[in-house]
Amino acid sequence: MEWCVSMPKVELHAHLNGSIRDSTLLELAKGLGDKGLIDFSQVEHVILKNDRSLAEVFKLFDVIHILTTDHATVTRITKEVVEDFASENVVYVELRTTPKKNDSKGMSKHSYIEAVLEGLRAVSSVDVDFIPNSEELKHLSNPLLSTTNDKCNENTRKKIFVRLLLSIDRRETTEAAMETVMLALEMRHFGVAGIDLSGNPAVGEWVTYLPALKFAREQGLSVTLHCGEVPNSREIHDMLDFLPERIGHACFFEEDHWRKLKSSKIPVELCLTSNIRTLSVPSIDAHHFVDLYNSKHPVVLCTDDSGVFSTSVSNEYKIAASSFGLGRKETFELSKNAVEFIFADNTVKEDLRNIFSSAAKNLE
Ligand code: 5GP
Repeated sequence: MEWCVSMPKVELHAHLNGSIRDSTLLELAKGLGDKGLIDFSQVEHVILKNDRSLAEVFKLFDVIHILTTDHATVTRITKEVVEDFASENVVYVELRTTPKKNDSKGMSKHSYIEAVLEGLRAVSSVDVDFIPNSEELKHLSNPLLSTTNDKCNENTRKKIFVRLLLSIDRRETTEAAMETVMLALEMRHFGVAGIDLSGNPAVGEWVTYLPALKFAREQGLSVTLHCGEVPNSREIHDMLDFLPERIGHACFFEEDHWRKLKSSKIPVELCLTSNIRTLSVPSIDAHHFVDLYNSKHPVVLCTDDSGVFSTSVSNEYKIAASSFGLGRKETFELSKNAVEFIFADNTVKEDLRNIFSSAAKNLE
């Protein structure tokens, strides 16, 4: 495990509100409990429950959102989540989150994302690079863009790249999905790199989100889709035909879907612990990682919801290494290859390739 922790890693499928520390959730629940706003003992039971079906996971998210959807808390959890990833040597993370409106807290989708950005600026244990570095952006004179949160000498500080993906929740309407895409475009200069489609897969229809996803693509945003989390053959075909830049999960694929996926070379974000804990895959031995890895299909290991599923990126690599017999070299290569599937620009890719090359020397 130690070696999986020290190796540089890239995290491409992490939901902000699923990555919260249990201790923070309990503290927030206790605070609301003390004010008589919730029944703490009931919420504590829900938070600490270990095995959850996919349907139960979405019930838990409803509870989490009650606890977290105010500006200060969104800022706090963003800071903590990024610090937690950096502490296990994640060098690049794409953090995805659903912009939320909460009228009782004066929160709009826009101010929600502002609170997330505030969290990135508040990180103190590591330097956070979240502003795109293209020549075009360098010419902008907005003072907020001038730096990241570099507080010390660059050479002596650890650094993590963070990019944001804005999630469309499957409960949303076409208009609400479009609003999220417009917000992503507006926030591009602050590190929003793409759009994710997530939320309860038992809810909603592909055609509802398609106009917003098409628009996102036309505007040059990258798109990743939760795909095949439940059996839904038609939708899986439609999603693959859309040719997203990446997909997540791919648990309930049939022969035709695998064929289409493999010929398209769409990279797959695989979340081993999440899939096992939600019973989306019967056992680790039966996980589709094996087939995709053996056929050299692009895959990246991710946590999904490190808080909800009590895992970490290092743990996912450790599970892959021990369950599928990968040696150190193969495990390192798996981690390194993820760089090629990130949504950030080529300068970031190049920086990450250099980080992995330096780390590879320690392997020899
Ligand atoms: P948030 O977007 O609020 O930061 O993160 C939590 C949300 O991410 C959930 O409410 C849900 O919409 C989405 N999410 C988290 N984990 C999963 C998952 O395993 N599958 C799907 N489809 N959505 C998820």
